[in-house]
Amino acid sequence: MKNREASADHLTVIPRNQHHISRKSISDSALKVLYRLSKSGHRACLVGGGVRDLLLEIQPKDFDIATDATPEEVRALFKNSRIIGRRFRLVHIRFGRDIIEVATFRGHDEDSAKTETNDEGRILRDNTFGEIEEDAIRRDFTANALYYDIHDYAVLDYVGGLQDIEARQLRLIGDPAKRYPEDPVRMLRAVRFAAKLDFTIEESAAQGIFEHGHLLAVIPPARMFDEVIKLFHSGKAVRVFELLREYRLLKYLVPALDEWLQDEPSESMLDFIDQALVNTDDRVNTGQPVSPGFIFAVLLWPVVHQQASQIQSDRQKMIGALMQVGETVMKRQVRHVSIPRRFSQMARDIWSSQPRFHRTQGKQPLRLLGYPVFRAAYDFMCIQTMVGLMPHRLCHWWTEYQLEHGDSKQPEREARKRPRRRRRRAS
Ligand code: ATP
Ligand code: MG
Repeated sequence: MKNREASADHLTVIPRNQHHISRKSISDSALKVLYRLSKSGHRACLVGGGVRDLLLEIQPKDFDIATDATPEEVRALFKNSRIIGRRFRLVHIRFGRDIIEVATFRGHDEDSAKTETNDEGRILRDNTFGEIEEDAIRRDFTANALYYDIHDYAVLDYVGGLQDIEARQLRLIGDPAKRYPEDPVRMLRAVRFAAKLDFTIEESAAQGIFEHGHLLAVIPPARMFDEVIKLFHSGKAVRVFELLREYRLLKYLVPALDEWLQDEPSESMLDFIDQALVNTDDRVNTGQPVSPGFIFAVLLWPVVHQQASQIQSDRQKMIGALMQVGETVMKRQVRHVSIPRRFSQMARDIWSSQPRFHRTQGKQPLRLLGYPVFRAAYDFMCIQTMVGLMPHRLCHWWTEYQLEHGDSKQPEREARKRPRRRRRRAS
């Protein structure tokens, strides 16, 4: 095949009988797309996380496909498809709830009018098409640049990705001093994959993060939101948080929290973050839903809690203080990461409802139970009780209260462990 010969000295081919990727572990929709492209005379490969995860024997989250067909040619082959993206034009092919992303091989043409960069070298738009070996070196990490060719089921490695997968390390393709400025989000991707795969970040890729971290400040807040959610919904949020601190990246995501951490943070509040992230990971790993509103409520709670306690010492008036502080803290946060309103509102409601959990008399509990944000606020409160930020009995009391008041969604935290008991009043 033309492409293979052209770069044969860089290319390692692992034939089908020497790797364990089987078509059985590839989704039917991805196979359908691969075969149809191939039958129409195009080159078609599975690429990226799909190949990487299958080699590591992890079930891939999604399947990405790379081809020599142009977006228009792909579009013409699949009725259920549409062209998306401006920075990178891609085709999305829909099969029910499944979406397969098809990218045309990208070429290397820095002078082309189709590749736009800004003064820092950040790529704003890049739609120059090219050959597969050019496509490989434009990807971020070597482990993400392996191709599974549907033509003969071989794995193609142009960048030494197989060795790096074996050594369990993330190596940036090319020079970090060029590749991070081109797209600073690659630094967050390094952290995410290191946490997800339990890989180390290779020395120069790691060093580059310290040198170029500040470039994250120029990423549009909407893209930052997507990345933050991928980081904290990865099922490895505890590790992600550690790595973000280690690589000094937290200040570009949640600057107020980063400042709070510099300033002798309280042990119990550190435990709170840790426990809340453990809880989030558990939920993700057992298929329960998690909300960005909850994540931001957790990450900003140390700051909101501290500032509200500074302006208000009377617990009765704490709700107002939390509302006021919550608004200012959120206003600053959304300048860095644009949080859709329903999630920022949810975080603020979680905060301001915390003092209400102390009120276990009269009609107040029933009112709180009716709040739309009740479940998340209750989870949040229980985590606070676990680390000593709120009285331990409150979590028990509210768990039982929900059981008695016929909440259809069983409170999992307590209900699983304890048999139903009569309601007790918290004093
Ligand atoms: P996962 O889907 O498990 O999060 P992935 O590696 O598939 O991981 P995607 O975001 O789906 O990541 O991207 C697919 C592939 O596209 C990557 O594996 C990589 O080869 C390439 N890619 C994605 N984002 C970038 C980027 N910012 N710079 C260079 N290449 C990228
Ligand atoms: Mg993917």
